[in-house]
Order: sequence, then C-alpha cells, then structure tokens
Amino acid sequence: MEKGVKEILDLMGEIKPKERDLIGRAYSFALKAHEEQERLSGDPYFIHVFETAKILAKLGMDTETIAGGLLHDVLEDTKITEEEIESEFGSDILFLIKGVTKLGTLKYHGHERHVESLRKFFIAMANDLRVVIIKFADRLHNLRTLEFVREDKRKRIALESIEVYAPLANRLGMGKLKGELEDAAFPYAYPKEFAQIEEIIKEKKDSYQKNLSEVKKELEKELHKNKIKIVEIDYRMKHKYSLWKKLLKREMDIEKIYDIIALRIVVENVEECYRVLGLVHSIWRPLPGRIKDYIAIPKPNGYRSIHTTIFTGLGGIAEIQIRTKEMHAEAAYGIAAHFAYKENGNKKIKDNKSKFKWIEELKDLNYAPDEPKKFIEHLKMDFFNDRIFIFTPKGDVIDLPEDSTPIDFAYTIHSDIGDHTFGAKINSKMSQLETSLRNGDIVEIITKKDAHPSSKWLEYVKTTIAKKHIKSYMEKHSLLSKLKSIGRS
Ligand code: MN
Repeated sequence: MEKGVKEILDLMGEIKPKERDLIGRAYSFALKAHEEQERLSGDPYFIHVFETAKILAKLGMDTETIAGGLLHDVLEDTKITEEEIESEFGSDILFLIKGVTKLGTLKYHGHERHVESLRKFFIAMANDLRVVIIKFADRLHNLRTLEFVREDKRKRIALESIEVYAPLANRLGMGKLKGELEDAAFPYAYPKEFAQIEEIIKEKKDSYQKNLSEVKKELEKELHKNKIKIVEIDYRMKHKYSLWKKLLKREMDIEKIYDIIALRIVVENVEECYRVLGLVHSIWRPLPGRIKDYIAIPKPNGYRSIHTTIFTGLGGIAEIQIRTKEMHAEAAYGIAAHFAYKENGNKKIKDNKSKFKWIEELKDLNYAPDEPKKFIEHLKMDFFNDRIFIFTPKGDVIDLPEDSTPIDFAYTIHSDIGDHTFGAKINSKMSQLETSLRNGDIVEIITKKDAHPSSKWLEYVKTTIAKKHIKSYMEKHSLLSKLKSIGRS
C-alpha cells in the first residue's frame, strides 16, 4: 500500500474494507490528476490535498468527506470533468467537491458586511455541512503555507480567515479548528500584535507552568484518594489570537488574564465533574465570580465544561477546567464530532447522543442522530426553510424566497438592473428568465439599454420588490400610451 494512504488510514481508526478502498482510489486519482502541478512553495500540488485530507481525518470526519478532501481541487485545477468524478466516485462525492469549488468564489468584503455575509455563507453551505468542513481544512492548510503567497494577498486571506472562517467554525462548536485557523492567520493579519503576544508568552510561560504543575500534583493525589478516575489531566495554552483579543478587553494588562495556561481535567461522567469541582474548592480558595458552570448552562455554541479560578497560594492564580470525555470531544470538534461518533460506532458515546442538545439549540433542529443523511437533510432547509441563496459572479450572496427567478435576483440587486434585464446566465449557461433558481446558483444578469419589463414577468416573480417595480413600470407605460392615444385623437 502507498505510504500516504496508510498515513490517512492510520488517522481514521477502524473502518470497513470498502472505505479503505475508497480512500486508496481517491488518493491515486488525485495524485495522478495533480501530477504536473506545483504549489507556490515548489512542493507538488498533491501535498496540499493530502494535508487537507489528513486534517479532515484528524477531525474524525467520515470516509466520504476525507475522500472529498483528497479530490477537492480536481474540478477547479485540473482537466478532470464532473462526469469522470461521478462515474468514478458517485454523486455524493461529486456534490461535495462541487460545493467546495463553488465556495471558492465567496469573498470577504470588509468588516461591516461580515456578520451578514457570515450568516449567508453558513446557510448557503448548509446544503451539506461537510462541504464547509472540507473548506475549513483546505483553508487551514493554505494558511499554514501562506508565507509563499504574495504579500497583499496574504493579508487578505489571513483577515478573511479571522473574520469569516474562524467565527463560523466557532458557531459550529469547532473550537479546536477555530483556534488553529486564527493562530495560523494571526501573524499575517496583525504582525506587530503577534510579535507582542509571542513576547508576553515567552516571558510568562514558565512561571505559569510551574505554578500549575504544583496544582496538578496535589490534585492528582486528591482525586486518587477519592477514587475518581482521571481520563486526562493536562495544561492547555490559550491560543495566541484569543489571548490578544482578551488582552484588548483588559487594557492590555496581562495580570488580569487568568487562563493563559489552564489545567484541564477530563473525567468519566457529569457527577464526577461536580465532585472534582468540590475537591478543588476544598483545597484552594476560588476567586469570587469566576466559577462558570457551562454544564448546567452551555454556551450558545454548545460548549460545556466547568471553569473555576483559584488562588494557588504563593500569590498565584490559575484556571481549572473540568469536563467529561464527550464534552472534551465536542469542545474540540463541535459539529464534526457528530460524524466521528457515527463512524466509529463507539457504543459508549452513542449512548450519550441525547447530550448533543447543543446542535438542536444551535439551529432549532430536530434530527435523529442515528441517521446522518436525515440530519444533513434537516440541516439543509429547516434552518431557513423557504430561502435560497444565490451568488453573484463576484461571490456576493443574495438571499431570495424559494422559486425566485433571475428577475427577482436582478431587482434585488438594483431596480435599474431589473428594469433593463435582457437575459440571464445561470451557472454560466444562458437560461430563461422564468427559471426557478436553486440554492447556490451563480447568476449573471445581462442588461440592455432598451430592454424593459414585461407584464408577463408578474406571473412568475416571487419577491415584492420585483412586483412593485414591474407594476410601476407598467402603470407609467400604460399611462404614457393612453396619453399618446389621447394626443392622437
Ligand atoms: Mn485547495
């Protein structure tokens, strides 16, 4: 077996022979398709899709998604056609790759518009969330090789990652990915601030770590005495970008930040989480107002854990985070954890599926966790069930009611464009003006000076704005012809 294939399979854990075969085939296919190409770094292009697939495997994504990661650039960058992909890998994988390709056209337009574009981005892509996750992995690897990209482009990609991709990952509960995206982008987006943070960390790291290692030792002893099984106990450094954001909020005073390094304790179940909290507080005095029970009240993105900050004696202060294994996986992988659990068939975790409440809260969806297909279906349209999201050729997203037409699209952009619509291209193909648009279509309106609205348009437009403009044109027009006919008589 190819060494690279094995590397991916090793990250995937237990899978069926059919799935191994799929990874092997996708690997060879992508290797051959990108054969001639190089990255700006001079590396073979294939390295990029290989690394993307590995990021997806580490996230615990399902086999199709990882294969999609290997194949995600073949449509855009090679001569491979959609038909070839479909006959080789089927329609599901083709769908994933097409989705990723389309996402490439979405642009970041600066801060004012970012919240709105974020929302739309999310929904437009909710056709299959796995598309977004492949795009995340693709972006993360691109950020990690950003040094080879032209300087002006570098900054734009870095900012876009921080302003659009990371918050979206956060919204999906994918905390680990969010942190990795931000930290990979940070040095290019804000070089001076990044250097400053590096300096601060260098200065403080040792003393914080020393402080915490004392706490760790004592706590391990205590947990052992109380027969609480420790699944994991470790330090975690705060991500650099989020440390900077926090410093900004605290007048850049490092002494006001208590969680640069936190001690994280993972135990078997929720009851034990609270027992650990009790033990911690019985040994060290907690800082008032710093006890946060995100188990009882999860964060809006589903994050669950107990946080407390303690005086460690000797003037030190430390944050302690307590959670179960499931919470730990969810906090890192968020919505991706859902796919991981499904694929691993891990019974223990599956039994805890009711704990995936946060996904429901996230989107107010009802879904059956045992049926990932259905889950994706729900995700698709329950969310904004009667809206579709259409791209301009430049990558702006316009949201419209279902069954809208190119005319609705034209009027939503500008009344003048609507009034002079002559034709429309949908996904680069000339199309009828009464065509019902589909979610994710890219639409280009062709205008002509002497083109004008027709009363027939009223039969199929869906938006009030289009109706209003067409009617007002008709009224003016018929008034004019009346006046003209009066003038003639
Ligand atoms: Mn790519």
